[in-house]
Amino acid sequence: MIIDGKAVADGIRAELLARTARFFQIAGRKPALAVVLIGNDPASEIYVRNKLRACAEAGIRSVDVRMPAEVSTQEATEAVRRLAADGEIDGILVQLPLPKHLDPRVILAEIPAEKDVDGFSEENIGALALGREGTVACTPLGVMELLKRYRIPTSGKHAVVVGRSNIVGKPMALLLLNADATVTVCHSHTRGLKEICLQADILVAAAGKPKLITADMVKEGAVVIDVGTNREGGKLCGDVDFGEVEKKASYITPVPGGVGPMTVAMLLSNVCAAAEKRIR
Ligand code: NDP
Repeated sequence: MIIDGKAVADGIRAELLARTARFFQIAGRKPALAVVLIGNDPASEIYVRNKLRACAEAGIRSVDVRMPAEVSTQEATEAVRRLAADGEIDGILVQLPLPKHLDPRVILAEIPAEKDVDGFSEENIGALALGREGTVACTPLGVMELLKRYRIPTSGKHAVVVGRSNIVGKPMALLLLNADATVTVCHSHTRGLKEICLQADILVAAAGKPKLITADMVKEGAVVIDVGTNREGGKLCGDVDFGEVEKKASYITPVPGGVGPMTVAMLLSNVCAAAEKRIR
């Protein structure tokens, strides 16, 4: 079965519209997200535009903060600090990657955990590692939501995550572990990737390498989640050789239309949750 991430994301976004309307009734204002974009990286411009549009459609006020590429770490830090102190802002997102001369750690550290809707802060990652409540990174959270909505069990399953980045692979592995899966994490130094992948009941590919996962690496009936978003000859593709792997998998996400749409939906959901917590 092909997992339709777009349909699930559309459903979540419709649910959010009702949630933001309720918030408005109680708080007298919309939940608000500040999006900070530094420089003019074309891909980042597109991502930010999509996020701002998605906010508007979900009844979330967005504040578009643009800064030139030459801005200093201090100026960027001060801008984020102002948003952190602003009582009418519920979430802050700094679009990555930042221009080379800026240190993302210093700038992101200014976002308080309760406004960290990307779930990248040390406090939120720590909470996830400890199995406590916190904000979880949108992409891995979106994968868990897909598993949940398709009623795919995780308890006792062997989940293999290919990729160990701080924004996808690691939080993905922690979420699956917290959901009682037995988790193996692979990376570029892993030996015997094929043999490990063949053991997976749930295989999550998040390496950013087109066609890394081929059919001979997938167990019959496995659930295959493709997080990869790569461009090949101008076309979007994942990390999984979809055409061949589809024949073996019980469930599989396509690219595009799988995990991608879920990321934005979960961001909106994290903004709503952050806003609701602040008025509780
Ligand atoms: P990173 O480049 O930060 O991390 C890639 C990870 O994959 C690293 O841990 C790396 O290992 C590992 N890796 C690379 N090559 C191999 C290999 N041949 N075998 C095994 N492991 C390998 O990428 P991100 O985590 O940020 O993103 C991963 C993919 O997901 C990208 O395609 C990205 O575009 C996509 N993405 C999609 C999103 C969405 O909304 N759908 C959101 C975020 C990302 P090592 O640590 O050893 O270098």
